[in-house]
Amino acid sequence: MAIPLQQALKVGAYVMQKKWKKEDRYPLVLMLEPLFRCNLECAGCGKIQYPEEILKKRLTPEECFHAVEECGAPVVTIAGGEPLIHPEIVEIVSGMIERKKFVYLCSNGILLEKYIDRFSPSPYLTFSIHLDGLQETHDRLVCREGVFDMAVRAIRAATARGFRVTTNTTVFEGEDPAEIRKFFDYVKELGVNGMMISPGYSYDWAPDQEHFLKKDRTRNLFRMILADRAGKGWNFNHSPFYLDFLEGERDYDCTPWGSPNYSVLGWQRPCYLLNEGYASSFRELMEDTDWSKYGPSSGHAKCRDCMVHCGFEPSAVGDATSSIKNTLRSISSLLPAG
Ligand code: SF4
Ligand code: SF4
Repeated sequence: MAIPLQQALKVGAYVMQKKWKKEDRYPLVLMLEPLFRCNLECAGCGKIQYPEEILKKRLTPEECFHAVEECGAPVVTIAGGEPLIHPEIVEIVSGMIERKKFVYLCSNGILLEKYIDRFSPSPYLTFSIHLDGLQETHDRLVCREGVFDMAVRAIRAATARGFRVTTNTTVFEGEDPAEIRKFFDYVKELGVNGMMISPGYSYDWAPDQEHFLKKDRTRNLFRMILADRAGKGWNFNHSPFYLDFLEGERDYDCTPWGSPNYSVLGWQRPCYLLNEGYASSFRELMEDTDWSKYGPSSGHAKCRDCMVHCGFEPSAVGDATSSIKNTLRSISSLLPAG
């Protein structure tokens, strides 16, 4: 099952509770970036371009726990940079699990085999491994040969020890849909619990600016990639409505407060993709951000073509509880595919 039943029930109950309380804006997933440093230099990365004085900063476990408690989201994605470089990452993850948060620990996989025995399998912990395609494509996109093989070894080691594992794939302009479909078949055979996909976002400061998708091209490409997906046995770690959105079958505005971002720089406005200032507390982020300035309908130039999961998956999750029909479809999507 892509999303554990325990997580789906907890998130569903959390959303219903917020709706009953008539809270319009609430977080679903805290995007925690305890450091920006990485052991790779991918061409499309918007994080490793920070100056050295920021790259050497790290959040302490206490700062991470404080952010989790302030925010209250049921799911925490720990990204970066490469979180496994953080010397206190085991303590950070354990503290989140003690707080009954569903943790997605992102990694490029290079260090996972080495450090895996420091962690224990739990329904609250999922390793989310960055894998952007089959061997040649992935190694080209991460700008280093051999990384695909290391990531695959890490996935095998983690699944063999009983850990939950998902893959995390960014789709860029010019990619071959047939190859991505083969890649999904390959990942399925690796026995992962789920796959995550998102179109790339054009960070102004990323070195490669040529290969980011515009909205119509995103929809066309995802229509080809996801064609007949129901019969393929692919388990996606997404709401089925987000996949419909990628294919252009539904349209949503962005819900940037659904995935707030906390990093060594503070609470980032309005989302982890844009740099429009930082708030010193979660409350300040929620109350003092002019949310009407963001999302495709706002006319913000940087939001116009964005379809990235951090902004639109929360919109899709909100849609999942908008009618009984949608709720039933969401529940049926939790059953294993194939
Ligand atoms: S692995 Fe992730 S954080 Fe590291 S350089 Fe690549 S995209 Fe950036
Ligand atoms: S549309 Fe994209 S860039 Fe704009 S606020 Fe939403 S997630 Fe961020």
